[in-house]
Amino acid sequence: MNRAWREFGAKNQPSPKESSTYLGANYLSTCEGAIGSETSQARAMAAGIRQVMEGTLTEFTLEYPCHSPTEQRWFLARVTRFRGVNRNVVVAHENVTERKLQELRVARLSRVQVLSSGINALIVRARDRNELFRDACEIAISAGGFHMAFVGVVDATGELVVSASAGKKQALLNRICKALQFKEVAANTMVMTAIREKTAIASNDSRNDSRLVFGTEYSDAGVRSLAILPLLVEGEAIGVFVLYSNVMNFFHDEEMKLLREMAGNIAFAIDHIKKGERLDYLAYYDTLTGLPNRTLFLDRVAQAIRSNLPGTGFSMVVLDLERFAQINDQLGRTTGDAVLVWVTERLKRTVGDSNLLMRVGDDQFAFVALNCIQDAELAQFLEKTAGALLEDPLWRDGALIRVAAKFGIACFPDDGADADTLLKHAKVALKIAKSSGQMSAYFSNELDKQAHQRLALAEQLRVAIDSGQLVLHYQPKVDMISGEIVGAEALIRWQHPDKGLLAPTAFIALAEETGLILPIGAWVIDTVCAQQAAWIALGLPVVPVAVNVSAVQLAKKDFLTAVRMALSKHAISSTLIDFELTESALMNEAAGAAEVLQGLRELGSGLALDDFGTGYSSPAYLKRFAFNSVKIDRSFITDITRNAGDAAIATAIIAMANSLHLKVVAEGVETLAQFNYLRTHGCHQIQGFVFSSAVPADVFASYLRSSKRMHIPLAASSDQPTLLLVDDEPHISAALFRMLRRDGYRILIASSGAQALELLATNSVQVIISDQRMPEMSGTEFLETVRQMYPDTIRIILSGYTDLKVVTESVNRGAVFKFLTKPWDDDELREHVRDAFRRFHFEVKH
Ligand code: C2E
Ligand code: CA
Ligand code: CA
Repeated sequence: MNRAWREFGAKNQPSPKESSTYLGANYLSTCEGAIGSETSQARAMAAGIRQVMEGTLTEFTLEYPCHSPTEQRWFLARVTRFRGVNRNVVVAHENVTERKLQELRVARLSRVQVLSSGINALIVRARDRNELFRDACEIAISAGGFHMAFVGVVDATGELVVSASAGKKQALLNRICKALQFKEVAANTMVMTAIREKTAIASNDSRNDSRLVFGTEYSDAGVRSLAILPLLVEGEAIGVFVLYSNVMNFFHDEEMKLLREMAGNIAFAIDHIKKGERLDYLAYYDTLTGLPNRTLFLDRVAQAIRSNLPGTGFSMVVLDLERFAQINDQLGRTTGDAVLVWVTERLKRTVGDSNLLMRVGDDQFAFVALNCIQDAELAQFLEKTAGALLEDPLWRDGALIRVAAKFGIACFPDDGADADTLLKHAKVALKIAKSSGQMSAYFSNELDKQAHQRLALAEQLRVAIDSGQLVLHYQPKVDMISGEIVGAEALIRWQHPDKGLLAPTAFIALAEETGLILPIGAWVIDTVCAQQAAWIALGLPVVPVAVNVSAVQLAKKDFLTAVRMALSKHAISSTLIDFELTESALMNEAAGAAEVLQGLRELGSGLALDDFGTGYSSPAYLKRFAFNSVKIDRSFITDITRNAGDAAIATAIIAMANSLHLKVVAEGVETLAQFNYLRTHGCHQIQGFVFSSAVPADVFASYLRSSKRMHIPLAASSDQPTLLLVDDEPHISAALFRMLRRDGYRILIASSGAQALELLATNSVQVIISDQRMPEMSGTEFLETVRQMYPDTIRIILSGYTDLKVVTESVNRGAVFKFLTKPWDDDELREHVRDAFRRFHFEVKH
């Protein structure tokens, strides 16, 4: 029957490319034809069809090969009942070659992977070469599923000696061994070629490969493809590891890549055995993640460089997990470990080969990016890697853990010719990425120098803490109504032995990075407490002193305890110490921070939200975190009298704080104009050069002793009508002054818009006459700012006709009330000014 089916099938075979469906009663024959000579499959198919026909099965499927001499194909036959027609079935043949090839590829790769990890375990336990070679061959057969394998070693005379072998065709191996003893035969073999050229060779169709000396023998033994892997020790090929497969096309690029690395591992083991060092798992692998450790990793990279595997270049990348210490601290070490293992798995997936991936520190990994030489490619790859960590967060004990990463990159060969240097430089680059806040950074020599300097500075800072080089200066906070000193801020300085007195901006960030901020912060709190106790002992009328607290300090659980201890050590009241925190400190530590801050408030200390306006500026923070004052950042104060935008922000912050019953402190107040503007807008306290900069403790003590206070500028009475003249040409202002004085106005004169704005901040003014053409700020620009900051004023432009267009626009916007032209008629002008004052009174009153 088989023959008959086959003949039928020959005519009805499914077309090689397309899938086809057969309908009718003769399917047995059809599929039999397609199945061809595979009798067992034909039988299975026939049985399946029968079962579907009889109704014991509703569906039957069978995958079968259908190879031609030139092409490999696979089909999936699906047999189903044909409704309506008794005992008839439908057989659909689907061409599944693509999927099948894919499956085979995956299967091949995973076989090689199993082999490779078997070898890795072996190199750790092998005590001598013979054991290593023998077991490597065994593993190739048992785990790798190879047909045969052998290890050949080049002896002192240059001859290749088979040192170990395994496989089903021992007789063939014996023949090869013998033949290799003849130098002339050996020289022509691919094995010797691989040794000479130090490169791996694959033959994927050994029956038709003319390069093979033993081609026929292999063919007879069922070998269809083979791979020859040289074992390179210290740059020399000391032997080969040869693998034989019984299928064609086994050794594709991916398999060869893994196998080359595996041969590298064997060579690594040979080298160590030779040097009398036993490979110890603990010495070469990280036990937690199973990744190679530094020694092994660097050796791998060095090997890759020697064998020129990466071609022209590659990148060494160091990856750092952000805020890992905190995960450890807050969620416990077990969770920390789980995170590391989880990260390792993610990295293996994106980075690929785990041999070129290692753990270099508690929360740092390093890997080699082989195929990304272009910056753009690498950036994309790193983004993908970071994304893999972030997008798919880890759940532990009901908590969601997201891990963000930063990367430092060093490129071979530009940033280092050896593995060690590359790793070192990638770490430098990582530091740069961390301090710059970017996700990744490349190594550069200039930055390396800076990093060195920072390192040196950090070392000096460590010493500075204990050797008394740190000092505190005190800057008074002044009440805006009484002018009295109501508090102070302690600001740290470093009396550097060579560099003189350093500002905190030169070292606080460094202290935070290195963790030195913890002892420094503790020192500040202790010193402030000790200072207050000393001042009290001197009978001085002390005021609360605020200390700055960094995010790093806040993250420590024992912060509150440390504060309590300092207070009791010096026996001072908690109301004599305040704390200033920035929004960014809270944003990162929000979870634990609320508790600590609440604790501080319960103690009785004041809490200020520092640098307000620069970060989130969130009123929610103010409410949530028990603050009792807000400090407006200096950046809004500097131009508060000149820039309507800054003024608007500052006044909005004041209004918001007032509605939340918080005190508002303006920082960096340098001029009386700023002071006055803030005062008229309801700010409570200021801190700034206008009263005093931060001063040494003894100077601050003298302030307290003498009850030094701010002389509050009296805002001139608004009873007297005041006119402001603005012109860059003094003779014009002088002429106007002489003429208008007769009408009894108080007249202020400014030679620029900026100066005029200062005057406006300290004086109450009703009418302004401004020139249009002035350097720096034009008249209309000036009056536009005035419109926003002092909307009640009546604003007049005095200008030439040529400026008509700009001025008209200003008039239309409402910035300018009147436009008068130069030269002017005295009487007419006087009348206009009178009219302006009348209008002011009318508008204010109604
Ligand atoms: P900050 O907390 O915003 O402190 C106010 C800064 O503004 C101080 O700078 C102060 O001298 C300066 N300043 C005050 N009034 C004026 C003024 O009218 N004009 C100008 N131009 N500047 C004024 P300083 O002392 O250089 O401190 C800089 C930053 O260093 C502080 O900013 C604070 O964030 C940090 N810092 C200072 N001491 C410590 C400390 O003990 N611990 C921590 N963690 N940080 C500190
Ligand atoms: Ca501060
Ligand atoms: Ca501040």
